[in-house]
Amino acid sequence: MHINQNYLNLKDSYLFSVIAKKVKEYTATHPDKNIIRLGIGDVTLPLVPVVVSAMQQAVTEMGAAETFRGYGEEQGYAFLRQAVCGYYGKKGVALRDDEVFINDGAKSDLGNILDIFSPDNTVLIPDPVYPVYVDTNIMAGRKIIYMNGNAANDFLPLPDKNIRADLIYLCSPNNPTGAVYSREQLKAWVDYALENDAVILFDSAYEIFVRDKTKPSSLYQIDGAKECAIEFCSLSKTAGFTGTRCGYTVVPHELKRDGAELNKLWLRRQTTKFNGVPYIVQRGAEAVFSDAGLAQINGNIDYYLQNARIMADTLTKLGIWFTGGENSPYIWLKTPNGMPSWDFFDFLLEKANVVGTPGTGFGVNGEGFFRLTAFGNRENVLEAMRRLQSVGIAT
Ligand code: PLP
Repeated sequence: MHINQNYLNLKDSYLFSVIAKKVKEYTATHPDKNIIRLGIGDVTLPLVPVVVSAMQQAVTEMGAAETFRGYGEEQGYAFLRQAVCGYYGKKGVALRDDEVFINDGAKSDLGNILDIFSPDNTVLIPDPVYPVYVDTNIMAGRKIIYMNGNAANDFLPLPDKNIRADLIYLCSPNNPTGAVYSREQLKAWVDYALENDAVILFDSAYEIFVRDKTKPSSLYQIDGAKECAIEFCSLSKTAGFTGTRCGYTVVPHELKRDGAELNKLWLRRQTTKFNGVPYIVQRGAEAVFSDAGLAQINGNIDYYLQNARIMADTLTKLGIWFTGGENSPYIWLKTPNGMPSWDFFDFLLEKANVVGTPGTGFGVNGEGFFRLTAFGNRENVLEAMRRLQSVGIAT
């Protein structure tokens, strides 16, 4: 018996536990201080009313013999897959409902999708990055090449013709940097993938935050993307489903490699290893895509975006360089005077009683940067920004 040795190559993730420990220690010695948390990437607004009533209705159905349902289709009920197609239709993207796979959130499929690819593939991953892309590939023993995000490229790395990769991770709007690729930039990635026979794994978990209509909110808005990309999305941030759990993965029929349709492989993988998302949750998710649902969730997104705008305006006033803050719930700022990320964390905690996330938690290129999130409540955001202006962090 041997374990998967690749697991021993994983770096321990101390980021959020160290943050929690530091905050706990500070609070213990300063019990009178009001700490404002702008660090965690979790929503705070509750589910919207149409979602709640759709789920209540589904609970009633499950409690009556005539409407009770047992196992559903592993890839999700047709009513929800069609609702997702309708949503894509509004973006000008035509999908068939058998190209949409319902899941319990994007994280699972971002990891699980690797089942259908050879462990020999070389993977291209931006740094800084959402850590799941890196760890899932280390677990599978794949070779990883990092592409540098930095202030010079506004944390939007572009293809390098000298680098050959099979799988490419892109996330736009990005976590942690809040940066959003333009149409031209995404076209460059699609062209690169097509030339190299590579597959792009496009994470659009924050697509709902894209309000600038000139920026794509789906990679399939770029010609050729259906031949080279799988797209992952989630209702976690879109509709406050971080605790409810529902997302979707799109695998177009046009996407073929080694003579096989990836859609067929993924269907086979899901029907073998997954038994679907609860009916009640899928009814709630369906309601998100109704006209009333979209109106209600966009009200919540407006609220978070307004928080982001308040933060962005403050940083601009202070002369601090940042990405994100529009079309994204994240703000990625350059620490003042080149302070290391953790020193800035300590400084903000002690001087302003504000908690953020040190950029180093997202990769080596995160050193000297810091992430703030717009998911807090308005009063806290306003108070945090007042404090930032009074502690002398201007560059
Ligand atoms: N992708 C990105 C970039 C994220 O930031 C997150 C969560 O924070 C996810 C995917 C996973 O979200 P979920 O599994 O809740 O859908």
